[in-house]
Amino acid sequence: MSNVKTQISQLQQQINQYNHEYYVLDQPSVPDAEYDRLMKSLLDIESAHPELISIDSPSQKVGGQALKSFSQVTHQQPMLSLDNVFSLEDFHSFVKRMKDRLQNNATISFCAEPKLDGLAVSLRYENGQLIQAATRGDGNVGENITNNIRTIKSIPLKLMGTSGKDFPSIVEVRGEVFMPKASFDALNEQAKKRGEKGFANPRNAAAGSLRQLDSKVTAKRNLSFYAYSLGFVGEMLANDESKELTADYFPNSHYQRLCQLKTLGFPMCPEVKFLETEQGIEEFYQGILAKRSTLSYEIDGTVFKVDDIALQKRLGFVARAPRWAIAYKFPAEEETTQILGVDFQVGRTGAITPVARLAPIFVGGVTVSNATLHNQDEINRLSIKINDYITIRRAGDVIPQIVAVQAHKRPSDAIDISFPKTCPVCDSAVVKPEGEAVLRCTAGLFCAAQRKEAIKHFASRKAHDVDGLGDKLVEQLVDEKLINTPADLFQLTEIQISTMERMGKKSATNLIIAIENAKSTTLAKFIYGLGIREVGEATAANLANHFYTLAAIENASLEALQEVPDVGEIVAKNIISFFKEAHNLAVVSGLSEVMSWPTIEQKSADEQPLAEQIFVLTGTLTQMGRAEAKTALQTLGAKVSGSVSKKTDYVVAGDKAGSKLTKAQDLGVKVLTEDDLVALFAKHEVTV
Ligand code: NAD
Repeated sequence: MSNVKTQISQLQQQINQYNHEYYVLDQPSVPDAEYDRLMKSLLDIESAHPELISIDSPSQKVGGQALKSFSQVTHQQPMLSLDNVFSLEDFHSFVKRMKDRLQNNATISFCAEPKLDGLAVSLRYENGQLIQAATRGDGNVGENITNNIRTIKSIPLKLMGTSGKDFPSIVEVRGEVFMPKASFDALNEQAKKRGEKGFANPRNAAAGSLRQLDSKVTAKRNLSFYAYSLGFVGEMLANDESKELTADYFPNSHYQRLCQLKTLGFPMCPEVKFLETEQGIEEFYQGILAKRSTLSYEIDGTVFKVDDIALQKRLGFVARAPRWAIAYKFPAEEETTQILGVDFQVGRTGAITPVARLAPIFVGGVTVSNATLHNQDEINRLSIKINDYITIRRAGDVIPQIVAVQAHKRPSDAIDISFPKTCPVCDSAVVKPEGEAVLRCTAGLFCAAQRKEAIKHFASRKAHDVDGLGDKLVEQLVDEKLINTPADLFQLTEIQISTMERMGKKSATNLIIAIENAKSTTLAKFIYGLGIREVGEATAANLANHFYTLAAIENASLEALQEVPDVGEIVAKNIISFFKEAHNLAVVSGLSEVMSWPTIEQKSADEQPLAEQIFVLTGTLTQMGRAEAKTALQTLGAKVSGSVSKKTDYVVAGDKAGSKLTKAQDLGVKVLTEDDLVALFAKHEVTV
């Protein structure tokens, strides 16, 4: 027994520490999944030994203590947490528990909602006016954050459509304040630029932004709100003296109450649904899970609430959660794992990228065993060492990211990560160009790694789409010294290919055909396929359309290159230095001997009616995308610039155009509306 007591006490201590970091400091040091596992262990042990449950156990409490720097608000009705399940089977057990308790096996209807990842607040309206807003705190006492809540535009300061009508004197509306994903990304991007850590996730960013002593800071943070329940409701403010004073203003259905809150001016999550029976639970859960990455806000599961308010009241609640609601959570997107080592990979352009080798971990639906560390700056920002425990995140199809080091778990054998002094593949010198964060191998195509990547890029779908030439095959062909450059592909024989691993005669024949097909291309693809740094598909197409021939591009000056749309000084310099290298020129000439493309017809003046005219696009275009408008203008010969100057001929101002429009007006530059632009395109028969 004393062993069990020690175990309970250790778990409680650890959970209390994590609670403090999460609820009070808004800075968790471990992922939620790890916390949830600890809490589950505690609950399991406590349920086996109920006599050992103490009232101050974290299993019996909600959240964390309210910060003393805010004035305190005692909730007239407690703000509870939610119990959670991770499987349909456990959901059914939850339903069974309710039915047993009610001693009634009748079907239960549910209000189904996404589980928003923000923080709960209670908004108190007296006589229709917002008079107080509070965080959940420990469930009984929260922080007074009224001034900060007033800065959130979607929260009404006054209830809509209630004046002159019978209305409850006090209404507490509860819901979640959250930070939309885009705002969270922008906030963390700014923090990164300042070399700061930023927030671990949108939930902590929302909590950290709302619990600010200076509401001016909150006002800048772009927080949103969805209402999801009612708290205390007072008696009716009866205008008509003869009416009975009653609090039954709100309907007996949770779902209908939310709809009613909407009519009072509160935003309601558009995904919320009424489910007649529990049959719809899994479908709702799966539907929201599938939509998760496309939603503009973070969620971590779904919540199902008994819809009938009278039933809710009969079921009541336990210490920290109602018996009539449950969170059916999604599998974790963040997990803990350890860095076992760091490998250095050399990319197509010689960039040397540190990649962390991880103890394999199942997260976001797949097993992850490595993650990029990007560059030295990122390693410094995260203060990461080999053998450290880290939080890894994999959301949707996005590549796994290391979110943070769990500094409190740093082992004594943690080792600094040191970058190689020479290229890890070819041993040539490495440089760190000024102003760049990455280290580069200087050997270019002499480096086997860069050779492999250059050939993979050449054969890739967007370049010459050589079907059947996968990454593994390229690596083998280079390792066997059968090819050194993309040009060598055209010398390969069927016999050579068929001797490679997993290559039969048929696949070798098909590959030879695919290589043969790659010989006819376009100038744009040819340029793109060379893999010049920062010359993507669009830039390659612009270069081809501007210069018409390969020779003209090869010989273009720095200034001439910068006349091409999208080509700034850095890209122009990359192009010049590419064509300066003898080994690149040898590859280009080898390729142009075997490859061919149609001649680009030079456009006559009538086909380029906007030649030499400089346009700037600003504000939101509603009838077309900004990129499409830009391409259409360029087709007509116009240059599209990002900033307004005296040289600008036209500024196209869409919705909410800001400083660029003002500048255009100040400089007397002609301003076009989106309709003018549409008319211009119609006149020149350009479709967008
Ligand atoms: P919870 O977040 O699991 O559930 C309750 C909360 O859900 C409510 O207070 C409300 O804020 C929110 N919610 C979102 N959508 C809702 C909806 N539609 N209806 C009702 N409520 C909704 O519970 P909790 O007590 O706030 O936090 C516990 C969880 O927090 C843990 O499971 C863990 O994931 C995380 N946590 C993590 C750490 C850590 O160190 N990483 C520490 C403490 C807590």
